[in-house]
Amino acid sequence: MAIVKTAGVAGAILGAESPPESDSSAPPGTPDVPVSRPKTPVAMAWTCFSSLAALRAPRTKPQENPFKERIVESFSEDGEGSLSFNDFVDMFSVLSEMAPRELKAIYAFKIYDFNTDNFICKADLEKTLNKLTREELTAEEITLVCEKVIEEADMDGDGKLGFADFENMISKAPDFLSTFHIRI
Ligand code: CA
Repeated sequence: MAIVKTAGVAGAILGAESPPESDSSAPPGTPDVPVSRPKTPVAMAWTCFSSLAALRAPRTKPQENPFKERIVESFSEDGEGSLSFNDFVDMFSVLSEMAPRELKAIYAFKIYDFNTDNFICKADLEKTLNKLTREELTAEEITLVCEKVIEEADMDGDGKLGFADFENMISKAPDFLSTFHIRI
């Protein structure tokens, strides 16, 4: 996977890898040997985000998709998870590998917009992060990561992400929409 440097935290949430840690403390002339160090919880959150595991079919061991209910809700016309035949067909069209990028972006936005106010706010991001990390982070760590995501992606400065902010964010993480699919 390519590292998308400009995407930062926002890219990390959507598929880019976390930026490499710089080791400025190393004295000059120190051989560039990778040092194994324990990951901080925030670093672990980046890793979770980077895989966008929620929307990617697991490749190795089967694992329940933590977003499955949210995905179904997003496609149901009543918003409560009851799918009509048409909703069902829509869901598989959007999640097919051939669906247009724009359509996938619209539905990805809907899925993350938990409170359906047409913005992705801090509370929406917190829910996403809790699902991705299976509630292994403290409230402070989650707040920190969410604030950074908004700080980087909120172009109009209203403190939440509109669809334009979201589209801009995912344009910096080209891997994101290509993995937004389900194989059946
Ligand atoms: Ca929202």
